Amino acid sequence: MSETKILLTEEEMPTAWYNIQADMPNPLKPPLHPGTRQPVGPQDLQPIFPMELIKQEVTTERWVEIPEEVREILRIWRPSPLIRATRLEKALDTPARIYFKNEGVSPAGSHKLNTAVPQAYYNKQAGIKRLATETGAGQWGSALSMACNFFGMECTVYMVKVSYHQKPYRRSLMQIFGGEVIASPSNRTNSGRQVLEVHPDSQGSLGIAISEAVEDAATREDTNYALGSVLNHVLLHQTIIGMETKTQLAKAGEQADVVIGCCGGGSNFGGFAFPFLQDRFAGTANPKFIAVEPTSCPTLTRGKLAYDFGDVAGLTPLIYMYTLGSSFMPPGIHAGGLRYHGDAPLLCHMVAEGYIEPRGVNQTKVFESALMFARSEGIVPAPESAHAIACAIDEAIACREAGEAKTIVFNLSGHGHFDLAAYDVFLGNQMEDYPLPEEELKKALASLPNV
Ligand SMILES: *Cc1c(COP(=O)(O)O)cnc(C)c1O
Repeated sequence: MSETKILLTEEEMPTAWYNIQADMPNPLKPPLHPGTRQPVGPQDLQPIFPMELIKQEVTTERWVEIPEEVREILRIWRPSPLIRATRLEKALDTPARIYFKNEGVSPAGSHKLNTAVPQAYYNKQAGIKRLATETGAGQWGSALSMACNFFGMECTVYMVKVSYHQKPYRRSLMQIFGGEVIASPSNRTNSGRQVLEVHPDSQGSLGIAISEAVEDAATREDTNYALGSVLNHVLLHQTIIGMETKTQLAKAGEQADVVIGCCGGGSNFGGFAFPFLQDRFAGTANPKFIAVEPTSCPTLTRGKLAYDFGDVAGLTPLIYMYTLGSSFMPPGIHAGGLRYHGDAPLLCHMVAEGYIEPRGVNQTKVFESALMFARSEGIVPAPESAHAIACAIDEAIACREAGEAKTIVFNLSGHGHFDLAAYDVFLGNQMEDYPLPEEELKKALASLPNV
């Protein structure tokens, strides 16, 4: 009998992160300063990021050592298990072998703690006492609050006001770990006050919360800013997921044929897939890569490859990426972590070069797949992660129809214990699909800056 749970010892946890910038065929286009439209230099980023992270953003060294102080904290839940979904295979009656990497075992409930810990560490090393950030659904805010707590730092989280009221337990989780949670827009910043003056009842948006957190960090000497996805150094920190998975598959005597992850800003997908892409570059393996996103926020499948702002206010550098336009307002889909208008430049680059296939899935299908997974494997997946599950199920069914025994591997980016309200909507037959209308897409794309 083959094993269903493939574990690694603490000694087998990777000691360095894999940097895809060392191996990819063509380099990235640089981010541009929003004012001058010239490539951004380290001095532009220094007011809000520590030098070590700025260096990781641009380095082309293949391996970046994981500091021992970071490894010590990662060991609380890492290495995470790789699990063979034998019951799901049976339920699908497929000859395919399905494996998933369970990042839901982290104390924050998702992969986001993998980068929160090193980000807090490098800021602490640089003498920073406090981090400011934004959070939508609360997953990144809870991860960063935990990480700051471990290093004795303060953490201020600007939480989109609608989520602040709708997701009180995410707020509790941040507060348990000492995070200060502020409903955004707030009176604490100029950007917040400006919004409130015009719209006193504003329920906030990720774009406004980013502006508040960046302003907070830029105006205080002891404070820096931290971002939970999109940036190169965030994807770098997440490669520990894919590296562990490769070691685990080797232990099980398997080679991945299909590598699947969900995509919001691109960090769990990049972290999972890039170590497998390394083998593709080296010519030692040739799996298929699939990045899965919601049809209601179809950045990779229907967006435009162009320079665009990372936020609504146009304060961030211009980033070359697939984008729906920074003015794009995503509908209220239940996978809150997949609602960003853009995606990580590294991931977009690999999609544009043809290495990764993007795919869109409707949310009712996502929740059907989530229930099937929960009922066969006993794990309630985060709605974000269930996008990857839906795709893995499709691939397994295709294997059944073709009589092919492929090895399908996907990343379970987090558990869904804080998302039960969304499950209730689905179980009550109240969930609808919102494929993005062509008209709206055109309107949002019309606002792209001229570069
Ligand atoms: C935030 C989040 C995502 C989406 O972010 P990426 O940067 O694309 O990984 C996916 N899954 C979970 C569980 C999340 O918390």
